[in-house]
Amino acid sequence: MRENQLLAHIHARSANLAAAFGQIVVGPGDDCAVVRAGSGALLLLTVDQLVEGRHFAADVPAADIAHKCIARSVSDIAAMGGTPAWALATGLLPRGFAHADALFDAMSRAAREMSAPLVGGDVATWDGALVLTCTVGGEPHAERGPVLRSGARPGDELWVTGRIGGSVRSGRHLRFTPRVAVGAWLCDALGPDLHAMMDVSDGVGIDASRLAAASGARAVIDLPRVPLHDDAPDALAAIGDGEDYELLFAAAPGLALPARAPDGTPLTRIGSVARGSGCVAIDAAGREHDCAQRGWEHA
Ligand SMILES: [Mg+2]
Repeated sequence: MRENQLLAHIHARSANLAAAFGQIVVGPGDDCAVVRAGSGALLLLTVDQLVEGRHFAADVPAADIAHKCIARSVSDIAAMGGTPAWALATGLLPRGFAHADALFDAMSRAAREMSAPLVGGDVATWDGALVLTCTVGGEPHAERGPVLRSGARPGDELWVTGRIGGSVRSGRHLRFTPRVAVGAWLCDALGPDLHAMMDVSDGVGIDASRLAAASGARAVIDLPRVPLHDDAPDALAAIGDGEDYELLFAAAPGLALPARAPDGTPLTRIGSVARGSGCVAIDAAGREHDCAQRGWEHA
């Protein structure tokens, strides 16, 4: 069974969680789960794993592996406009692994730098490759609340932060800064006009398809508008590259967002939301390209 099919199976089994358990506000399928604490406050929760040979090569330095492990989960908190608060990590270490101390020191440092200090975890050894998991908890924006993938509406503008493409080849996927500050600022600045948001982990094309599907709408990407890194391939290839860890968001039209967020992060309108379903990218010649497969499919 493919990872996507297995995730869909888990999501289907969890579809009634929110109705059956009052403390569950958003179950599996978005960037984070949203749960209600006993005090009534909402918490964001996300977990991700990092597998040697799949998410990083065996020769990557421990500090880079540690950074990526924490940053990927923190990016899911940013995807909802939230603020990270704490982290838990586990390590499944190859027997005789020589860099355990350096790895966990670096994870602890990275977690503190990203305002999600490690409050616990577990370690085991085995005969396989290095596997790390990181769980991060956080708080949604106090006024806007959690920004889900499902709120985009026909007529919305589709925006992206930063630049796209070439992340894995350049090594940027190891040292990216999760867009926590920009996500929170978008909540401040746009409030209820910020309709939907997610982070771009698998590729702008496939992730825009997911945002469109969650919203029951169609995403249209204007390829010449996509902001590319200098070392990225052409726009059509770049929207399939993945691991950008930028924010993709849908906002009400005509808001006149600035070209950059206060921290300097570029903000670019790359398309729009329409009635219908699916996601297409339109090139400079007006040709339509289906986006459903443009990105990392968990095979
Ligand atoms: Mg995500």
